[in-house]
Amino acid sequence: MGKVLITGAAGFLGSHLCDKFILEGYSVIGMDNFITGDFKNLLHLEANSNFKFINHDVTKYIKIDEDLDYILHFASPASPIDYLKIPIQTLKVGSLGTHNLLGLAKAKKARMLIASTSEVYGDPLVHPQTEDYYGNVNTIGPRGVYDEAKRFQESITMAYHRFHGIETRIVRIFNTYGPRMRLNDGRVIPAFIGQALRGEDLTVFGDGSQTRSFCYVDDQVEGIYRLLLSDYVEPVNIGNPHEITIKDFAEEIIKLTGTSQKIIYYDLPVNDPMQRQPDITLAKKILNWEPIIDRDEGMKKTFEYFKGFSEEELYKSEHKDFKNHIKK
Ligand code: NAD
Ligand code: UDP
Repeated sequence: MGKVLITGAAGFLGSHLCDKFILEGYSVIGMDNFITGDFKNLLHLEANSNFKFINHDVTKYIKIDEDLDYILHFASPASPIDYLKIPIQTLKVGSLGTHNLLGLAKAKKARMLIASTSEVYGDPLVHPQTEDYYGNVNTIGPRGVYDEAKRFQESITMAYHRFHGIETRIVRIFNTYGPRMRLNDGRVIPAFIGQALRGEDLTVFGDGSQTRSFCYVDDQVEGIYRLLLSDYVEPVNIGNPHEITIKDFAEEIIKLTGTSQKIIYYDLPVNDPMQRQPDITLAKKILNWEPIIDRDEGMKKTFEYFKGFSEEELYKSEHKDFKNHIKK
């Protein structure tokens, strides 16, 4: 079937992609420097003869001896708390890291897919977001390090495609969730589930009227797989269009977890997008793809995963970054 290099392999999406490609019969090289990832996400592949792991920072020169057919670049901090903590690494992995990997793709004549994001649309003024919307990003805001790195990543990828004839694919991923997210990564789903499991109140930022649309990981991985194997070069949104306000979502989690916690309100982080919903018309048309796992089912699976954590893990994982927000 071919050989695939997956960067960010020890992270949430990267590890699920490793599973998918192994399952489809590919030989996989996973690469990660563990800055936000964990090898426990790959332990089940350790003994698989079709899997190999390289501990490496992709912002440094990358040397791979064997041939490669595909490269999937998923290395990057992905949670607002992570990229606030490590802004320079976030900029570097999207820019220098992508440059290194495009160079590798050119040398190996491999097809490369990059993980872009709904954040390229910033706080969008067009709703739902279509791929032809240019976005509304504050270049110098705290989220700018992630948003602009991803926008640069798209630009350099298209430049390598146009100038060097590299085969490239760009997926714009909308909020995706599921098992193997880090309980302490600050993103809303692990944050709320962790709080519910610890018996704490759920921390809604702002008045909770901002919206997100959550996609279960298996749907996301299938969309990415189909895009890689398609002929489509320009960016494609992959996400679940079912939109919900964060306040209603907190209430859903309280119901799902059967807890009696309250919602408490903190200030909205700077430049937190007020609305987000993917328009997936293009993905439906060119990939014959749409999500099939609804939020009820996906959240049950995710809750089951986090319920398996020990008390020690639950408390160790409690993140203290709310100190950056002001309680109302
Ligand atoms: P994650 O933090 O779980 O995984 C990212 C992985 O990249 C981690 O294992 C980390 O250690 C690794 N990494 C970071 N910098 C590196 C470097 N310089 N060299 C090698 N490895 C490095 O995050 P995730 O949710 O799995 O996101 C994966 C990718 O998908 C990211 O590029 C992210 O921007 C993109 N994405 C994710 C979502 C989502 O909802 N999960 C949404 C949009 C985009
Ligand atoms: N959020 C929240 N409470 C939390 C964590 C996040 O209300 O404990 C909000 C956050 O302000 C944003 C939404 O939930 O409006 C989604 O946040 P997340 O960090 O998951 O990712 P984003 O979609 O902003 O990249």
